[in-house]
Amino acid sequence: MAIIATEDLGKDYHLGPHTVHALRGVSVSIEPGEFVAVMGPSGSGKSTFMNLLGCLDRPTAGRYWLDGEDVARLSRDQLASVRNAKIGFVFQMFNLLARTSALENVELPLLYGGISARERRQRARARLEAVGLAEREHHHPSQLSGGQQQRVAIARALVNDPAVILADEPTGNLDTRTSVEILALLQRLNRQGLTIVLVTHEQDIATYAGRRLVFRDGRLRTDERVTSIDAADVLKTLPEEEEAVV
Ligand code: ADP
Repeated sequence: MAIIATEDLGKDYHLGPHTVHALRGVSVSIEPGEFVAVMGPSGSGKSTFMNLLGCLDRPTAGRYWLDGEDVARLSRDQLASVRNAKIGFVFQMFNLLARTSALENVELPLLYGGISARERRQRARARLEAVGLAEREHHHPSQLSGGQQQRVAIARALVNDPAVILADEPTGNLDTRTSVEILALLQRLNRQGLTIVLVTHEQDIATYAGRRLVFRDGRLRTDERVTSIDAADVLKTLPEEEEAVV
């Protein structure tokens, strides 16, 4: 069963007398364990599509099933609870709370779930360990490098065991080597079964995904499965850089 399935998904925005057709009839199906890159020029509908997939917004037309659940017609409150349970978000700017430790940042999504403090801590620790940051749990974001901050954000996205990770330009703020390190981490998680949908405007970044969806003028223009490059192999060819922040 598909983890994400859309049928003729559409989204219009009304700006005074004008209607912008941001998304026009997108039908796509993503299977569990896929690593999908969403591409296309600025204004092509990528963010609109991701906002709908992430249950941050409601479509004007069409249907959307997330992990088997029909979510296109849910109320905003219902969408919020589906979102919390099923989606892990990773953003370009990391979006961590500044005066809060790495561990507490990772715990945040669990605060709404009626889970005991002890279990929250255990789960957050396990996720930090999974992204290679067990030693940094008491560090605040300003005491971490960009790559480490993005690892914390990935741990936070994973803490609820989401059905899918939606990553919006997750390496957009990182240097080349750190970007490839983050992609190696995402590929490792993907091989363990995690479904990942990643927005990027960089062709290089898309080569690490196994499938490419290319949008243009609100339509899905290309949908191709490709052989991805192994980020761990690429890392071996890149020079080591000094840690920016310890
Ligand atoms: P991309 O992420 O590929 O740059 P977007 O999904 O942001 O594209 O935008 C698709 C189209 O919808 C663009 O023409 C954009 O101007 C328009 N659009 C996006 N968000 C809004 C909004 N909130 N209100 C009005 N128009 C919007």
